[in-house]
Amino acid sequence: MKHITIYALIALTINIFPIMAQDKIKQTAGRDQLGEFAPKFAQLNDDILFGEVWSRTEELSLRDRSLVTLTSLISQGLTDSSLAYHLQSARQNGITREEIAEIITHIGFYAGWPKAWAAFRIAKDVWEKESAEQPQPTPEEAFRKEMIFPVGEPNTEYAAYFTGRSWLAPLSSGPIKISNVTFEPGCRNNWHIHKASSGGGQMLIGTGGRGWYQEEGKPAVQILPGTVISIPPGVKHWHGAASDSWFAHIAFEVPGENASNEWLAPVTDEEYRKAGE
Ligand code: MN
Repeated sequence: MKHITIYALIALTINIFPIMAQDKIKQTAGRDQLGEFAPKFAQLNDDILFGEVWSRTEELSLRDRSLVTLTSLISQGLTDSSLAYHLQSARQNGITREEIAEIITHIGFYAGWPKAWAAFRIAKDVWEKESAEQPQPTPEEAFRKEMIFPVGEPNTEYAAYFTGRSWLAPLSSGPIKISNVTFEPGCRNNWHIHKASSGGGQMLIGTGGRGWYQEEGKPAVQILPGTVISIPPGVKHWHGAASDSWFAHIAFEVPGENASNEWLAPVTDEEYRKAGE
């Protein structure tokens, strides 16, 4: 019975996570709760169980250790605050709501159905509290997070030649200026022509989301991350996001003589709609 009590006490101190994988886990629950009554137990708990065993993240990740610990506790039918504590730790160690549902269902077949029921009552609270605390990121936040290149500043310099909001992040300032251009859904630039008396043109490389490139009189070409578009000089075209997706591409001018950009009319809603068909 004693270990149950101790786990319950440990559970009261839930400030040890999140922990960087490379750091030793700092646990003080043992000394906080039992330092005077059972100093050896407190030391074993804080320094060995957490300081040594849980900290061996090279050998087994915190996420996997949480999974093993949960399986052990639920199989024993422990449904006190220690289980709540380890469910919270598991959540912080990366176990998702969908995964914990699957894990407890699986345990139920081996450890007993009522034990799964009891564990679910606590797990539901832990994961529902999480979703209430952490609102889902907006599509813009999610896109910014997954983008490998910076989004940069609002593209005010060329805003007159864009429909919708765009952002510009210069990536290099050397002889070839490379920028990452980000478009909100539906955003596109005007029809335009990259002019040069020799050489010239523009290269695009998709870096995030989904977008379009269209030359006048031709069907639009989809741009996905990794798609490379070579735009010849003198060709009228536009590029931008799909109507339902954020989009980003790297752009750079192909070196040429007397290079300039000729900006033309906006891509009308009708032209844009047809491009996406
Ligand atoms: Mn262009």
